[in-house]
Amino acid sequence: MKFKIILSVFLLSIVLISASAQQNYAIVIHGGAGVMSKDKMNEERRAEYKEKLNEALQLGEEMLKNGSDANSVVVEVIKVMENSPLFNAGKGAVFTHDGVNELDASIMEGKTLNAGAVAGVHDIKNPIMAALEVMNNSEHVLLSGEGASEFAKKQGLEIVPNSYFFTQTRYESLQQLLKKERERTQKDNTGTVGCVVRDVHGNLCAGTSTGGMTNKKYGRIGDSPIIGAGTYANNKTCAVSCTGHGEYYIRLGFARDISALMEYKNLSVKEACNEEIKKLSELNGTGGVIAVDGDGNIAMEFNTSGMFRAFAKSNGEREIAIFKNE
Ligand code: ASP
Repeated sequence: MKFKIILSVFLLSIVLISASAQQNYAIVIHGGAGVMSKDKMNEERRAEYKEKLNEALQLGEEMLKNGSDANSVVVEVIKVMENSPLFNAGKGAVFTHDGVNELDASIMEGKTLNAGAVAGVHDIKNPIMAALEVMNNSEHVLLSGEGASEFAKKQGLEIVPNSYFFTQTRYESLQQLLKKERERTQKDNTGTVGCVVRDVHGNLCAGTSTGGMTNKKYGRIGDSPIIGAGTYANNKTCAVSCTGHGEYYIRLGFARDISALMEYKNLSVKEACNEEIKKLSELNGTGGVIAVDGDGNIAMEFNTSGMFRAFAKSNGEREIAIFKNE
């Protein structure tokens, strides 16, 4: 009899512990890393960025509390940032050398290792939605250019003229670069957006969306739509979204390497991100990364002077920041 009672109490506590672990959620977002200084970004501008990050984060928190799955949260949160002219994604995308906007986005779910991405698209209002459609409704992982637009149209996504992506600030950035006649693409293109989520069901998802780098040429594609470079998710390890000089992230297989460091070397999510940022610095690359693991532990690491970033957890922890030691 006594044994039965002890056993029941034991089983009940296991059920309660796992039920509460199931309720855990965590979300991290970024709005790009780069050279940022408090002198160059006035109070008003900082407030604008923080307000938009807060709006995106809040939407994610509400969805997660209501039991939404990680994929839907990642897409809806990224859409908020894509629709804002503040970030280098969707509406606020940077200009190519030829004065047009070409956008990239990707998404990956940790439960199935399914993934979808679009690259070099010029008329899809929300590229992250196109990435989701590629993942859910095609037999491919990465679609590009006209073909990606045709597919997006068939899926009923909103198509816009390229002029929709025009913003004066980004246009002026291109003009300044062209004036300086720099041959190489500019390193500082702050504003790529990303989101990683651990939902209450224990699933992970990562998404990234960008306009790429100002003055890019020849159909250049960065890391953001490349699964394993700019985006990666695996329920066994973590979900990762990157921002920075994409060529370095592709060469390092950055996002996938973080997952591998956790899987094979047993590093924590923060240690793995730091290790990868170290490798980036050794190559003289710049940028940042956000990640979340299966237990909801998070990381937001970068080797630039700032990264627009924010996180929230079911235990009430929450932060929105821009500069390094904030
Ligand atoms: N990673 C992006 C690219 O190289 C740009 C960025 O995140 O700033 O296209």
